[in-house]
Amino acid sequence: MIDTHCHIDFEDYDNDREDVIKRAQEKLDAVIVSGISEQSNQSVLDLSNKYKGFIYPTFGYHPVSSQNCSEDELNGAHKHLISNIKDIAAIGEVGMDFFYVKDKALRERQREIFTSFLEIADEYKVPILMHVRDCEKKAVNIIENYDNIPYFVFHCFSGSLKTARRIMDKDNCYMSFSTMLCYSKQHQDLIENLDLDYILTETDSPYLAMTKEERNEPVNVVNALNKISEIKKIDLNTVDEITTSNARKIFKI
Ligand SMILES: [Zn+2]
Repeated sequence: MIDTHCHIDFEDYDNDREDVIKRAQEKLDAVIVSGISEQSNQSVLDLSNKYKGFIYPTFGYHPVSSQNCSEDELNGAHKHLISNIKDIAAIGEVGMDFFYVKDKALRERQREIFTSFLEIADEYKVPILMHVRDCEKKAVNIIENYDNIPYFVFHCFSGSLKTARRIMDKDNCYMSFSTMLCYSKQHQDLIENLDLDYILTETDSPYLAMTKEERNEPVNVVNALNKISEIKKIDLNTVDEITTSNARKIFKI
């Protein structure tokens, strides 16, 4: 089992990060930790160096928290990314979030920042891990312009079944499902109709726990796998085997 997207570099874990990772090591094969800013990219890299072979880093620039960045900041993040490109499993999370952002100019800025990272992924042939909300169709239209990006992952996919089918029509495009599967009817309906060959699992820790007050952690990815197994009536081992091998292939881990 692999948690393909979480943020255990966040300060939420400052008091017990080692215990959280220890619990993950007992059950999981690997954990992918995603940066959201230049600073968090560095902490994610440091963490992966401390837990080599178990924690893998991705370098990102979160669409909402980074949309007001200056050109200098964006260039700095690009440079930092390129200088570490050999040590990362993917570029992400990057993308567009139209759920939180309604303003046209800001949405356009998100698109610009997103495409700037797609250009780098295309040039260096690195997979892209995307945060896309309420604009999944637009994102699919955009990524179709990049032929050299080996794999695309929609983290915590919440789009329509129609867009999901379009994603499954490509052979290098995946959707990741989180612990939200345990309580979100929309996600349960989606997974019922999707082919496991295009599915990954994640927690997005510290977010998306069973209750809003709770802090999520990577080992809980087992709950997402259990739910997939229950909904699709496929035994847990098979779900685990397929989703884990999808993740290993994409992130080369
Ligand atoms: Zn995230």
